[in-house]
Amino acid sequence: MQTKVKTADEIIAMRESGHMLATVLEYLKANIKPGMTTQDMDDLAVAETKRLGGEPGFLGYQGFPRSLCISINDEVVHGIPSKERVIKDGDLVSLDYGVRYKGMVTDAARSVIVGTPKQRRHIELIERTAKSLDAGIAAVHDRVRTGDIGSSVEGYLKKFHYGIVRDLVGHGVGHHLHEDPNIPNTGRADTGPWLDAGMTIAIEPMVTLGTERVYVADDGWTIITADHSWAAHFEDTVLITKDGAEILTRL
Ligand code: MG
Repeated sequence: MQTKVKTADEIIAMRESGHMLATVLEYLKANIKPGMTTQDMDDLAVAETKRLGGEPGFLGYQGFPRSLCISINDEVVHGIPSKERVIKDGDLVSLDYGVRYKGMVTDAARSVIVGTPKQRRHIELIERTAKSLDAGIAAVHDRVRTGDIGSSVEGYLKKFHYGIVRDLVGHGVGHHLHEDPNIPNTGRADTGPWLDAGMTIAIEPMVTLGTERVYVADDGWTIITADHSWAAHFEDTVLITKDGAEILTRL
């Protein structure tokens, strides 16, 4: 399904959805603590979303059994919340969430260190992954090409010699959680499909301290680094405008 130029009403709904999503992620960041389970975080996300008037956007998507994707340390994305999985001091936790409102969905992610960081490079990885997302967003404007965005993300990260995951990519978003085209986090400028003002896309660099290679865990969902190096993930849904981008999933 190709992403469409959204109508004025659809954009209004996505702004509201995005505001709820950003609020939920800030709430999760403020409340996450060592000793909580990943299911506790899912429960908090759902309760806060309902309080705000939205609906969880991931629940049941292609059979995903929970509402929050929560991925710890060497898990990159798509970790499934569980009552058995306890969050520990120093863990690098990635929180990926979606909110549906008035038929429209937004998608965003943040990584955090819970409690006391174990290593300085964990903090740096998080800060630089966030900045690589900003670099990708800075490349956006009417008639941008997907390769312009990927090249900008990759260009910012190059000097750090991190792994940039290629098997997973950003995407169009709005009516559906995943709409075409793909938005890679690598690539060359002036390549790939063109995007128009009024389209909405999710840009989402996934960056590791080691390899770019990943595999799918036995649960069929969780994506893990092949060398078990730790990973960070930042994502925002943005509206493409004539001169730039409006970030829908930040406060
Ligand atoms: Mg996404």
